[in-house]
Amino acid sequence: LERQFSQANKMQAVGQLAGGVAHDFNNLLTAVRLNCDELLNRHPVGDPDYSELQSINQTVARAAGLVRKLLAFSRKQTFRMETLEIGDLLSDVSVLLRQIVEETVRLDIKHGRDLPLIKADKGQLETAIINLAANARDAMRDNGGGSLIVKTSRIDADAVRSAGAPNPREGDWLAIAVTDEGHGMDKETMEKIFEPFFTTKEAGKGTGLGLATVYGIVKQSGGFLFADSEVGKGTTFTIYLPGHEPTEEETSELEQAEVAKTV
Ligand code: ADP
Repeated sequence: LERQFSQANKMQAVGQLAGGVAHDFNNLLTAVRLNCDELLNRHPVGDPDYSELQSINQTVARAAGLVRKLLAFSRKQTFRMETLEIGDLLSDVSVLLRQIVEETVRLDIKHGRDLPLIKADKGQLETAIINLAANARDAMRDNGGGSLIVKTSRIDADAVRSAGAPNPREGDWLAIAVTDEGHGMDKETMEKIFEPFFTTKEAGKGTGLGLATVYGIVKQSGGFLFADSEVGKGTTFTIYLPGHEPTEEETSELEQAEVAKTV
């Protein structure tokens, strides 16, 4: 079986374009909905046209839901960057991760040693990890379970470069790998996964915005996102984030936090 690699790119422009289209589309949908409501008034339950009109109405409602999600996705988000220890963040999010994956899934969080600090928006980075875990759960559902491993490690710029990143900054990097034993992806799927709205999930189950969101978050933090998958075996998504050299002030704050934790 061939292994597939995929890198997110060109997504920001697509996201912005999609946001503009979504806005206009939203207005058009409103017009359709108002007309449909009017027709439903004239053809109430029992009328031969009622069920078709009702079906149009429901489809328009679903379309409106998608547009709302796309607007939320492309809206310029404000990121609050702070110095973070990934170990702390994963501990905080582990309860939620456990709830997201199903009982048939083993969840294993492997903390690497001497991890560099990072600068990122805590809530956003948690969202990114949660989105990856939710996809992993969905991929394993059909396979009757498996393991979900979230593994952190310290790597250097060369390792990031060999993963496929162009011109990574020299120095320490943090890798967060999310590995599942799900159904994996073929080449055609891998080429599209970072596109907003691309989904292979059945209607109503997926929006196709999960990975596009993860990509946006990683990009904001100066990082890279890669996928590596094998059909029938599983998938690994790896987030690479540049290490952050703390200022003196930050160092003493972090030390105080450490002391506070042990008391
Ligand atoms: P959604 O989850 O709503 O479909 P995403 O952007 O999160 O949207 O994912 C897009 C597609 O990428 C999914 O529909 C699926 O085909 C594929 N995918 C994402 N993560 C995985 C995974 N861990 N294993 C297999 N396929 C995946």
